[in-house]
Amino acid sequence: MRAEGIEASRRILLVFPRYTSAFGTFENSYPLTDGVKAFMPPQGLLLIAAYLPAHWQVRFVDENLRRTTREDFEWAEAVFVSGMHIQRQQMNDICHRAHDFDLPVAIGGPSVSACPDYYPAFDYLHVGELGDATNDLIARLARDASRPPEQVVLKTRDRVDMSEFPVPSYELAEMKKYMLGSIQYSSGCPYQCEFCDIPGLYGRNPRLKTPEQIIAELDKLRECGVTGSVYFVDDNFIGNRKAALDLLPHLIEWQKRTGYVLRLACEATLNIAKRPEILEKMREAFFVTIFCGIETPDPEALKQMHKDHNMMVPILEGVQTINSYGMEVVSGIIMGLDTDKPGTADALLSFIDQSKIPLLTINLLQALPKTPLWDRLERENRLVHDDEARDSNVKFLLPYDEVVGSWKRCMEIAYDPEKLFERWRHQCDYTFRNRLKVPLSPEMKSWANIRRGLIMLRNIFWKVGVLGDYRRVFWKFALERLRRGDIEGLIQSVLIGHHLIVFARAASSGRQNASNYSLRLREAQVPAE
Ligand code: SF4
Repeated sequence: MRAEGIEASRRILLVFPRYTSAFGTFENSYPLTDGVKAFMPPQGLLLIAAYLPAHWQVRFVDENLRRTTREDFEWAEAVFVSGMHIQRQQMNDICHRAHDFDLPVAIGGPSVSACPDYYPAFDYLHVGELGDATNDLIARLARDASRPPEQVVLKTRDRVDMSEFPVPSYELAEMKKYMLGSIQYSSGCPYQCEFCDIPGLYGRNPRLKTPEQIIAELDKLRECGVTGSVYFVDDNFIGNRKAALDLLPHLIEWQKRTGYVLRLACEATLNIAKRPEILEKMREAFFVTIFCGIETPDPEALKQMHKDHNMMVPILEGVQTINSYGMEVVSGIIMGLDTDKPGTADALLSFIDQSKIPLLTINLLQALPKTPLWDRLERENRLVHDDEARDSNVKFLLPYDEVVGSWKRCMEIAYDPEKLFERWRHQCDYTFRNRLKVPLSPEMKSWANIRRGLIMLRNIFWKVGVLGDYRRVFWKFALERLRRGDIEGLIQSVLIGHHLIVFARAASSGRQNASNYSLRLREAQVPAE
């Protein structure tokens, strides 16, 4: 479905802001690949591109790949920007650059929807999801593409049903330069974890696309050259379990038809471990990774943050169950909780050893606006506003320096190369072996794919095996994998592991933020071309 009934024609420049260097953007992995320069294409802007009137011209720039040029701005009649809190400064910067060309600039997406006051310079604020606000914005720009005299705030009250969403304009993005493809089936989550803004922003009753839409999107992603992995960016893939079960047979059928060309990944709550009927079908659909917000191994803390659903199965057992279906668990962890004690870091490190999870995003607690946590801390006078010297806006119960010190210690120890590769060894020997044995498709056997693998191996051997300072640990791991003929496990583990090691070193020495939302934004270490 597209916006209709618009006669005027416009040229719209869609700009996605650069990410601040973060644990989850994997920029230290890119130099080991065959040309990856950014993490994932943005769903929101590509969806808007597909929704705009068919006769409007659209240009998309991801500033993680290249900076918007003078020529781009001169071409455009209006600029659209979207992003998350972590990209706040970059979004405001794009707005100022566009204003240098006297262009009207609109901002939409999760950050402005939660915090409109972060964006005082923009001409149009699009608050909420695709809907009547979007139609209003399009109609206003069609009538008059000059800058309005004052900021216009447009709020979506009537959302477009997700089953009517068009296929995002993936063709506008240089898909081969992304580490992962992205796709969205549902929006919203039925739970209400205290720190999370998803239920407040997107609702507790997940809204859905149809399986047919997802299949059409997968076909298009493939046409646009996506190989490797595609990530379901849904807030919780099993937020509506029946919907997940409805979709999975379609995914299985698609994978069989196309020769299992894509590996799938998603985010889901840990209680998925109680659903063997879902896990079995996910295995058949070639899901290989699930991001679970474990947050903390401390049951008391889980209770206090209203994440009791993580305890429906003992956590370690849950992780092992997911691994037994061939899926690696990636985990979110939060430090600085009110329940943290001096022994919390040691308990966390012990959990990491036992769970054998290689990749854990360990962040300091941050209060996001429009969350129950924000409201509670505001009542308790424990919010710190606009202090650039801090990595969190929360006044912890333990001393700030002690919490940050614990976080640094956890990063240093958890991502010690020896420990990390020990955990990868377990994943290769146990989890990956439980994956579906898929036939080698013509695409996988193609010269292009073999060449890609060889380039990555060359980069890994040279940059990690020769130039890297953890060579000894690397070669021990690499030779073992090579002896077992596990090239795939080798590439996958080192590609991700290298980023984790480099990032954790920067973090433990104070060169990286302890929170993905910190005000102290730093530029990504790998410059855009
Ligand atoms: S389960 Fe995840 S998405 Fe849902 S409310 Fe909790 S943290 Fe947010």
